[in-house]
Amino acid sequence: MVRVHRPTPEFAGHLRVLYDRFPFDRSLADDPISVVRPLALDPRRGEIAGIFAATLAIGNTTAIRGAIGRLADAADGDLGSFITTIPSVERRKRLRAFRHRWIRGDQLAYLSDRLEAIYASDETLESIFANGMRDGGFADGLDALARRLRSPARPRGPRPPRGYRALFPSPLDPSHSPAKRLTLFVRWMVRARYPDLGYWHTVPTGELRVPLDHHVHWIAYHLGLTQRRTRSWATVEEVTRALREIDPIDPIRFDFVLCHTGISGDCPKERDLRICGPCAVRPDCRLWHGRRSAA
Ligand code: SF4
Repeated sequence: MVRVHRPTPEFAGHLRVLYDRFPFDRSLADDPISVVRPLALDPRRGEIAGIFAATLAIGNTTAIRGAIGRLADAADGDLGSFITTIPSVERRKRLRAFRHRWIRGDQLAYLSDRLEAIYASDETLESIFANGMRDGGFADGLDALARRLRSPARPRGPRPPRGYRALFPSPLDPSHSPAKRLTLFVRWMVRARYPDLGYWHTVPTGELRVPLDHHVHWIAYHLGLTQRRTRSWATVEEVTRALREIDPIDPIRFDFVLCHTGISGDCPKERDLRICGPCAVRPDCRLWHGRRSAA
């Protein structure tokens, strides 16, 4: 039987202390948003840099930042102009040798074609997301975005390259994906508080969902914000509900701190008093449950 673990009644205060003490500057340098921001000079270029960067957000943060940098170099430092002024055939040529984990240049070139077609039809990624969300909820907004990005530009247009569609899973797919990368993209676009970009104004911050990578899932599970051991859309909703009880207006402000607590090594993911000692959420941590003081 799975043992249910819940945070202490003082958890909200503990989480706020973790947030307030967090060395944002240290972790910002390591985060993909640090290389997105210089490319995101206006709302259009913010969407374009953001969706490329979120698509590449697989693996460790150093490799992700390197991949975004190589993509920006291929675009002569301006991903907006890359989409709107460089012909598709030239984009394909420049991206031919691109690799990041299992993501290939031909997939990014196809994404660039999709973005070109979207902007040519006077739509934006925000309007696609917002229309989907209006018809249902946040998951429907992600679904609308995923569907539009992964479908061919025209009914008889070229088919997406191998593996392309899998880059844009939707929470409404039968797998109920947590859609971490699209959810992260929407966080960047909606939240106006640094370091996020705040270019979208039609989606309230209280509606955001947590981008559930394995660092966030690990700590959320160990703090009792979810009892689910697998990452799925249901887990995303459960963790988000718990964070919304603490800050209904901006629940996802805690995402950066929870994520980078894991990335930075501030959380060893095991009981280690040297590191866990000063951890503000130690009273709520499953690993320390029932151990009120030093082991
Ligand atoms: S107490 Fe230790 S293991 Fe638990 S969340 Fe804090 S740093 Fe991580």
